[in-house]
Amino acid sequence: MRLRTFDSFWLLRDGTPHSYPSLHNRNEACQIVVVGGGISGALISHALMEENYNVILIDKRDIATGSTAASTSMLQYEIDKPLYKLAEKIGEEAAVECYKAGVNAIYDLGKLTLELKLDCGFEAKQSLFVACKEKHAEWLEREFEIRKKHGFEVQWLKPEDVKRDYGINCFGAILSNAGGGIDGYKFTHELIAYNAKRGMKVFDQTAIEKIDYEGKGVTIHTESGCTIDCEKIIFCTGYEATEMLKEKVAYVFYTYACISEKEIVIPEKLKNTLVWDTAWRYTYMRYIDDGRLLIGGEDAAGFFPFLQNWIKKIKAKKLQKRLKDMMPGVEFIMDYSWGGKFGITGDGLPYIGKSPEFEKALFVLAYGGNGIVFSVQAMQIIIDLLKGKENSLSRHYRFGR
Ligand SMILES: Cc1cc2nc3c(=O)[nH]c(=O)nc-3n(C[C@H](O)[C@H](O)[C@H](O)COP(=O)(O)OP(=O)(O)OC[C@H]3O[C@@H](n4cnc5c(N)ncnc54)[C@H](O)[C@@H]3O)c2cc1C
Repeated sequence: MRLRTFDSFWLLRDGTPHSYPSLHNRNEACQIVVVGGGISGALISHALMEENYNVILIDKRDIATGSTAASTSMLQYEIDKPLYKLAEKIGEEAAVECYKAGVNAIYDLGKLTLELKLDCGFEAKQSLFVACKEKHAEWLEREFEIRKKHGFEVQWLKPEDVKRDYGINCFGAILSNAGGGIDGYKFTHELIAYNAKRGMKVFDQTAIEKIDYEGKGVTIHTESGCTIDCEKIIFCTGYEATEMLKEKVAYVFYTYACISEKEIVIPEKLKNTLVWDTAWRYTYMRYIDDGRLLIGGEDAAGFFPFLQNWIKKIKAKKLQKRLKDMMPGVEFIMDYSWGGKFGITGDGLPYIGKSPEFEKALFVLAYGGNGIVFSVQAMQIIIDLLKGKENSLSRHYRFGR
């Protein structure tokens, strides 16, 4: 019998690198409170600290134990909506700007991990977008053309090229130079610890009872009976933010992932390449820094807590079957599997900025398959919004669109 857990691989592998006190027995004051200690909160609080704001970060759970702990952390410039489709929706210039912002964000994240020497397994990778059905190859070629036209570093690979180099069965693929992978859980811990060392106050296990927006500033009342006075709040509260907004910003469902044992044998080129396919509920994979292959997908709307282990088992089996169809020669011996909530927006773009429903608050809702890359983009957007500067991305990512 093999006993498994619903906890993600990263939580089990990395443990709790840093822990923080909860807020109790005293009141606090600062300029900006960042609510949420996932990867978005880590990045935003870092951007604020770089600009010398006085920041407090709070989380009702332990740091990074929300969606960030479940993330497979592929870093893609590619949005859930293909560029040609996004162009039809928001215009070609705007769509290209969003895609290009993704390329820059992967580069910025790599630079940040290097500069701060964060031990988080960041690796630059190529990205392979494969047509899993013959009829998908047609729109995928159209997608390739629009990306090439706008200067993205892409190549079109024929089915036989993909088979030869990556061992994958498909009907054609776009190979992009921009992409990456990271241990998002460890990165979040390391970045928050870096800023805590230089004066940012961090309180985990600190739940909010109510927020008082009356008067000049904002007062947060915690369940432990303390208050935090501040000028502004930035909500980096992930998918749970959908519960506090009347605007329907996302459709939230469940997604699943599993990871192989170490030393899996796969084609050499695949080790440096993210892969995802054109299916509506797409399957994706990446090789990680300690010699394992990670596969994810099998999104599903329904979730029944008492059946979670059973569902997870079925989803893991389906992911392995999908891998076998794509790459019949690979022997995938599963080590861990897990699932998590996941949200997508109608146009594939995040919601970053001010919601008309909340005064004195900003939101970073980096929803979608490349949520982490959106969170990186949010760093500059939030700083610009705070300083009243123009930021063209913030127009595409605004509330009420
Ligand atoms: C299985 C899976 C695979 C994924 N794969 C990828 C991928 O390959 N690439 C990618 O880019 N993205 C991926 N994602 C999405 C990615 O995980 C998210 O975009 C990212 O983790 C969101 O980070 P966050 O900080 O915004 O949210 P979270 O990590 O959820 O952090 C929000 C934090 O806010 C806290 N919080 C919420 N409400 C309150 C409150 N009222 N008071 C105090 N604290 C509060 C929570 O406790 C939590 O810690 C995946 C997600 C899942 C589930």
